Amino acid sequence: MLKFTEIQKSYTINGVSQKILDGLSLDVKKGEVAGVFGPSGSGKSTLLHLAGLIDRPDRGSIEINGTNVSEISGSETLKFRNQKIGFVFQHHFLISELCVWQNVCFGGAIKNNCFSMGLKQNALELLDFLGIMSLAERWPEKLSGGESQRVAIARAVFNSPDLLIMDEPTGSLDSANKKDVTKLVLKLAAELKTTVLIASHDNYIMENCSKIYRLANGKIN
Ligand code: ADP
Repeated sequence: MLKFTEIQKSYTINGVSQKILDGLSLDVKKGEVAGVFGPSGSGKSTLLHLAGLIDRPDRGSIEINGTNVSEISGSETLKFRNQKIGFVFQHHFLISELCVWQNVCFGGAIKNNCFSMGLKQNALELLDFLGIMSLAERWPEKLSGGESQRVAIARAVFNSPDLLIMDEPTGSLDSANKKDVTKLVLKLAAELKTTVLIASHDNYIMENCSKIYRLANGKIN
């Protein structure tokens, strides 16, 4: 589903080019929950940015669900990212002027220029599937950190992405909420066959990944 072949990525830091990823290869299967583990500065976010088409490798190829995304560019990249990839970050980035169900289907509302009844229905069905229907009419400022993060996950999967990318998704949560968020991620992978790529320092979510990729010296060990 997600295949990196011999990826190289360097950044120029203080005028000096530094190799962050150095011939990295990985192969994540459909429906797998893949954890990327490594010390701070080892290149976890860089790897996620490449998988999310936010950045490009210097060398090597990246394949997502059969498409060689190293070969697409410009508006095609944007379209591919919008349709096939969902993102969750440590901070939820919910829009405070919109209630929960509106946040969940916001991407669709922008496309259609309105919050249609169809979009609302789809958002409610997703919230129900994720076990957070009771939050549908709430405002982000009234949600706890864990609730906000679960809503952010619902928003990220509203379009049924092939790949869900999560950068430290439980980084700001207490242990009960870490467990709830982890449970929800496992449900998405098991029941919707969403492929998930998670970078985290959190032992609980990492222990529950189906596969762990350890990043060191620019490679997977
Ligand atoms: P991690 O997520 O494992 O902490 P990162 O991928 O964020 O690691 O960063 C790896 C290294 O690459 C760090 O030294 C960081 O400063 C550097 N880096 C990351 N992104 C950029 C960038 N856009 N420009 C320059 N250096 C960067």
